[in-house]
Amino acid sequence: MSLNSWEKVIDPNFLSAEIIGDVGSERVVTIKDIDMAECYDEGSKAKVKKQTVFFEECKPMVLNKTNAKTLKKLFSPNSDNPADAFGHKVILKVETVKAFGKMTTGIRIKEFSEEKCPICGKIILPYAGKTVEEIKEISKRNLGKVMCGECMKNQAKEAKDGK
Ligand SMILES: [Zn+2]
Repeated sequence: MSLNSWEKVIDPNFLSAEIIGDVGSERVVTIKDIDMAECYDEGSKAKVKKQTVFFEECKPMVLNKTNAKTLKKLFSPNSDNPADAFGHKVILKVETVKAFGKMTTGIRIKEFSEEKCPICGKIILPYAGKTVEEIKEISKRNLGKVMCGECMKNQAKEAKDGK
């Protein structure tokens, strides 16, 4: 019998990009805990303890540096406590990433938001490297009201062209 799922090839106790789907696929999850967990390491072919993020809705995920930085930026920019992220929703997105010198698929943590832009009606998303909170702050400060990054850019352009 051959294996019929990537889930079994990779450590079956952990979430992998293959479980979520093709590049571009997304899943909304709630962070439950961040702790050390034993997982299979392909490099050393042994069980090793790694920093892991646990979710309410699905299997845990090994927390790499990129995703850890995203969590810190989103949930504890001014403190040093991973527990600040607990209970928060994030988006897990499958992207093409470079790992060990090869291009492969990986899971990237993205900011989750439910707040809609009052101008275009779309959900306010991270934009041009800024978090949703930063976008909201900048648009409020510069244009007098909260809006998405795209609308902010359009309004700034209109204001400039009008002069
Ligand atoms: Zn908008």
